[in-house]
Amino acid sequence: MATFNTAELRRQNRNRVFRYIYSSGRPVTKQDIAQALSLSLPTVGQNLKELQEADLLEFQGTFDSTGGRKPRAIGISNNVRCAIGVYIGHKRIHLACINIRAQLLCSQRVARPLTNDEEYAKFLAQAIEDFIQANSIDTKRLLGVGIAICGVPQPEEGVATMSPVQPVDTLDLKLISSHIPYPVIFENDANAGGLATWWVNPEKENMVYMFLHRGIGGAMLLGGKAYHGATFHGGEFGHMCIVPNGKPCGCGQKGCLEAYCSTKRLSEDLGIGIEDFFEGLRGGNQEYARIWEEYLDYLAIGINNIHLVLDCQVVLGGLLAGYIGPYLYDLRQRLQKIATFETDGSYCTVSSFGYWSTCVGAALNFVSQFMEQI
Ligand SMILES: [Zn+2]
Repeated sequence: MATFNTAELRRQNRNRVFRYIYSSGRPVTKQDIAQALSLSLPTVGQNLKELQEADLLEFQGTFDSTGGRKPRAIGISNNVRCAIGVYIGHKRIHLACINIRAQLLCSQRVARPLTNDEEYAKFLAQAIEDFIQANSIDTKRLLGVGIAICGVPQPEEGVATMSPVQPVDTLDLKLISSHIPYPVIFENDANAGGLATWWVNPEKENMVYMFLHRGIGGAMLLGGKAYHGATFHGGEFGHMCIVPNGKPCGCGQKGCLEAYCSTKRLSEDLGIGIEDFFEGLRGGNQEYARIWEEYLDYLAIGINNIHLVLDCQVVLGGLLAGYIGPYLYDLRQRLQKIATFETDGSYCTVSSFGYWSTCVGAALNFVSQFMEQI
C-alpha cells in the first residue's frame, strides 16, 4: 500500500508540474515551478527529467541570469500528440486535427449525405484515412478520433438517438467505430463545442456555449463544471418559446427559438447555401437583409433570456459562428436595447474556433484523457 501511495504521489506531482507549464502558456524556469507548486528544486528536477524522457518537454533557450548559471526556459512539446475531431453533418463530414495545445493543425470538409448504413461507415473511415494521408499526420502520435454527432450518443448500447433535424432517427455507433482503426469517442455536437470553448477560457467559472446550427443547442459550465440537468436536457436552448403559438418546430411545439434561428432559415428555406446567403447580404440583397434583421431580432431574444437567467458570458458556436463575426456589433446593440439590467451586450462573444469548435471539442476528449494520465 505504501509503495502504491508513493508511486501515485510521484505521478500526481509529475502531472501538476506538466499542467503548470501547460497552463502558463509561456516558457517557465525550474524555480518558477518550485515556487508555484511548493515543491523542492530536486523534486521538480526529477519530474522534469521524467517528462523530458517521455518527450513532453521542450527547452526553449535560456532566461537572463541575475547571477550564476542562466536558467533554462522550459515549455511543452505541443505536437507530442495529436487528435482528430470529426463532425458528422447531414450533408457533409468535417475533419480537423489538433495538437495538445488545442491548436488547429489542419481541417477539411467532405460532401456526403448522412445515412445509417455500412456504406456510410466505410466512407467515413476512408475519409479519415485520406485526411491523415493528405496532411501527413503521424499515426504513432495520434491519440484517437473524436466524433461529434447531432444527437445523444448512448455508447453502452452502441447507438445514438439523433436530433429531429437530422435525416436519420438513430445512428449505429458500433458500426461506425468498427471501421476506424483508432480509438473512437462519440460526443454530442453542442457539448463538444462547449468543451472547446471552455478549454481556452479556463479562468471562466460560469459560461454558456450556444450552438447555432440547423438545430440549436448548447452547453453550460456552472461553478467550473458542465451542467446537464436531471434528465440531460439542460442547455436545449433551441426549444425555449420566444413566440407563443408561433412557427411550428421540429420538436412538435410552436414558437421555439430553433424555428426562427435554425441556419436552415438562411440556407435551405431559401434554396441556397449559407455561403450564398452571406455573399448576397454583403452584396446588398434587400430580401436577405430583411431576413437577417429578423433573424438577429429573434436570436437576441433567445440570448437575452439565457443571460437574464444565468448572468454569465454567452459564447456563440456552430455553423453560424463562421459568419456572424462582422454582425456581432448589431447583435450586441439589440441585446443592449432589450436588456432589463444595464449591459452593452459584450457578454456575448463568438467562439475563437469559429466554425471548427465542434471538431476541436470532439478531439479534445482525447487530449483531456492524455493529460490526466501523465
Ligand atoms: Zn422546439
